[in-house]
Amino acid sequence: MSPTPSPARPPSARTPFAHALSGLLDVLLPADCAGCGTERTQLCPACRHTLATARPGPTLLPWAHAAAPYADPVRQLLLAHKERGALRLAGPLGEALGRAVRSALGARAGAAPLLLVPMPSARAAVRARGHDPTLRLAGAAARSLRRAGLDARAAPLLRHARPVADQTGLNAAERRRNLHGALTVLPRARRGLAGRQPVLVDDLVTTGASLAEAARALADAGLPARAAATVAATAVRPEG
Ligand SMILES: [Zn+2]
Repeated sequence: MSPTPSPARPPSARTPFAHALSGLLDVLLPADCAGCGTERTQLCPACRHTLATARPGPTLLPWAHAAAPYADPVRQLLLAHKERGALRLAGPLGEALGRAVRSALGARAGAAPLLLVPMPSARAAVRARGHDPTLRLAGAAARSLRRAGLDARAAPLLRHARPVADQTGLNAAERRRNLHGALTVLPRARRGLAGRQPVLVDDLVTTGASLAEAARALADAGLPARAAATVAATAVRPEG
């Protein structure tokens, strides 16, 4: 979601070992529903239903579609996956992301093989969390699209070219300036991707400034993104 690399470890920071251990405990002792707290099920039927039946639609950035508004229980599910390592949520969240990809592309979804490009996480954040949540969601979304008969794969092509200041409190123009040139495409990561239509994917879109910078970086590298898709959006485009 945010390209802002944070030097400080968040309070939830865990080592990869603690992370793996938590994953193991999770299998042995199922956690409560990450969406609503219902006991002894990581994703209760009601929350699964909310996620599965949300209708994807355009966000404030018209070429970016989100599967659902950023509201509970979807918000809680995203946070549990991202910050608390509830990795089994990647499947249902990735499925929702896959639906947003199809919604964003419309009839073009089947026109050419898809390339899901996750928004990059700062390396410090990946270390602190023990995993890259957006990359994991992109992989899960690609799998769900393949199950639906589409040729889709995920590839982490983007990297931060430089650190960016915290976006909090910046207006739209300041955000654009703050982010311009912040992302770059890894040249060697592009091999074998010719002919695929790139779609940017992320867990959450707020103003869309980060997605716009990612689209600029892809276009400069000769890989213009056809669309963007997220699991959730803080603001959706009004109908009509
Ligand atoms: Zn629930």
